[in-house]
Amino acid sequence: MPANILVVEDEPAIQELIAANLLHAGHHVLRANDAEEAALLVRDTLPDVVLLDWMLPGMPGLQFARRLRADERTRDLPIIMLTARSEEHDKIAGLEAGADDYLTKPFSPRELLARIKAVLRRRAPQMTEDAVEIEGLRLDPATHRVSGDGKAIDLGPTEFRLLHFFMTHAERVHSRTQLLDQVWGDHVFVEERTVDVHIRRLRSALEATGHDRLIQTVRGSGYRCSAQVE
Ligand code: CA
Repeated sequence: MPANILVVEDEPAIQELIAANLLHAGHHVLRANDAEEAALLVRDTLPDVVLLDWMLPGMPGLQFARRLRADERTRDLPIIMLTARSEEHDKIAGLEAGADDYLTKPFSPRELLARIKAVLRRRAPQMTEDAVEIEGLRLDPATHRVSGDGKAIDLGPTEFRLLHFFMTHAERVHSRTQLLDQVWGDHVFVEERTVDVHIRRLRSALEATGHDRLIQTVRGSGYRCSAQVE
């Protein structure tokens, strides 16, 4: 599944090489030369993964990773640190700062892609192709099919992504802003009531099999996917 990947790397040749490999694998790439540029990009669009160089001009990668972890909006953002160094104490410092994984330069494109996939599987299950099922409601990202008790359910692309996100993050309450970030990738240029419109469409599509009960409104907070009755 294509992911939006932010590459924060100040060496042009390395940035270019990484970007070319990611694009070749079908991912979308955002590029930044330092933490400041990266912060501006993240403010507008939440990427699915950040590849973060350790040695950057200005704010070091490590400090930027800490900053992302400290902010509620970017707390769960998968981060892979890139570094030319290989000392064990750097690795520990990176992981302690909140990085999910660590790649030592030079690395092969295949290794990079494998690590990205592994981090997404752990941190962002909605980015993987694994089928999910809750109470007879089944969604298969690989075939793009949804069914309720075996009966096919037709969903628009946004409702599909919304349901996929809900099902892979069941029982948690998501605010409209969080849903815009996670499902639309944008909380700046899309209005919050857009979320309500698509929730309504999703529920009405799930009504035939009674699975609309899984999409619950949490008053004053947002929405939740839950098999439990409130
Ligand atoms: Ca560097």
